[in-house]
Amino acid sequence: MTTWSNWAGLERATPSRTEQPRDAAEVLAAVDRARAEGTTLKMVGSGHSFTAVSAPEHTMLTPQELTGLVRVDRDAMTVTARAGTQLKHLNTLLESAGLSLHNMGDIAEQTLAGAISTGTHGSGGTNAGLAAQVAGFEIVTGAGELLRADATQHRDLFELGRVGLGALGVLTEVTFQVEPLFCLEAEERPIGWEELLESFDELTRTHHHVDVHWFPHTDGALLKANTRVTDPPATASPPSVLRSWWDDDFLSNTVFGAASWLGSRRPGLVPRINAFAAGALTPRTYTDVAHRVFVSPRRVVFREMEYALPRDVGLEALREARRVIDAHDWRIGFPVEIRTARADDVALSTAYGRDSLYLAFHVHRDADHRAYFAAVEDVMKSFGGRPHWGKIHTRSATDLAALYPRFDEFLTLRDRLDPDRVLANPYLRHVLGD
Ligand SMILES: Cc1cc2nc3c(=O)[nH]c(=O)nc-3n(C[C@H](O)[C@H](O)[C@H](O)COP(=O)(O)OP(=O)(O)OC[C@H]3O[C@@H](n4cnc5c(N)ncnc54)[C@H](O)[C@@H]3O)c2cc1C
Repeated sequence: MTTWSNWAGLERATPSRTEQPRDAAEVLAAVDRARAEGTTLKMVGSGHSFTAVSAPEHTMLTPQELTGLVRVDRDAMTVTARAGTQLKHLNTLLESAGLSLHNMGDIAEQTLAGAISTGTHGSGGTNAGLAAQVAGFEIVTGAGELLRADATQHRDLFELGRVGLGALGVLTEVTFQVEPLFCLEAEERPIGWEELLESFDELTRTHHHVDVHWFPHTDGALLKANTRVTDPPATASPPSVLRSWWDDDFLSNTVFGAASWLGSRRPGLVPRINAFAAGALTPRTYTDVAHRVFVSPRRVVFREMEYALPRDVGLEALREARRVIDAHDWRIGFPVEIRTARADDVALSTAYGRDSLYLAFHVHRDADHRAYFAAVEDVMKSFGGRPHWGKIHTRSATDLAALYPRFDEFLTLRDRLDPDRVLANPYLRHVLGD
């Protein structure tokens, strides 16, 4: 019997059948069989959602055989790949073709379909979220149809389905808008709490991507500000292998992992550990190909909740979250991450129709997140925050309907494309209704 669990180990499931479809025809056959049996089916990605969004009940489809490049269209500047391809493999393929995605999050382990389906985003940029970079996709719907959706065909599906939560169908191919390969100059340095709040707007105006980690119980934060190198033509000067290993692997994973493990067992030490962590990384500047600057290894396993706030109230929400943290006797051993995104037009994207500031709250995988996340979630709610679909939250379909202007249209489309709820699971019933 196969057991599925997610990266954080918080969600588990025991599907009764597992298949590795090799193409759309095999996905269609699996959907038809589930419909005939009256059971459910779920295509999983690489399990990097903290929620049970991809937890299978009956049939689990796994992505390993649905991978690889399909075509590169240099006139349209698009790249099509099979939906189970991991972002890290797409990045390598794109780099060798002299191409790049516009922006991405801080890891590349996710599958293409998994990443876009929950609205994975990075910080700032020309097209912030991955789903906003999608130019089209091929999907096997829950009703057993194979459709291609883009700006010219099945436009409603294209607009509503790029962040589709796996609720409308199984994606088999994804087409991304791409651009010529570019380099980013990364500046990393410690920054104090007050300087951060005072200069954040200026930082986001003068750099393409700003990513900050603030350490609770301290005034210390780490700033990473990336700027596109356009003149002279991009040349990579990455950190030395030793410096990269020291900062990105040894300090950020080995030392931080040991420190956060210690903090989860000796909470009284957390403020001192956090102060150490905020000061441990020394300033550095380097230039490298974009995807290598965006992505960092993440070997310390954690639990996460992230909310997208309207950009103009985001910093006030951060101040309020800090007031709540300071008012309790919790010991939070993981940083709060602060990022931004431009408004997009993807119906269920957390940045739909509004410039956004993201606040992400983390705890060690062994820590109990409930009291902390519940209290800061109340703050996020009071500022009109939208929860990341792939990260821990408690919001239900009723709450979410009020946050997304096109939510009802999404539900209507779901009724049409998955009338028998072949693609449902408990998470989807909670966030979308039955
Ligand atoms: C260490 C870590 C770092 C992260 N960093 C970021 C970040 O920087 N920014 C950010 O926004 N998020 C981030 N995330 C969250 C992550 O990007 C999302 O949760 C993403 O959805 C995970 O992709 P996955 O391939 O693991 O998909 P899964 O989590 O396995 O599945 C996600 C959803 O996609 C659906 N799905 C998968 N394949 C298909 C398919 N072929 N057709 C239709 N639906 C499908 C699933 O059914 C499910 O609904 C991070 C997560 C972790 C663990």
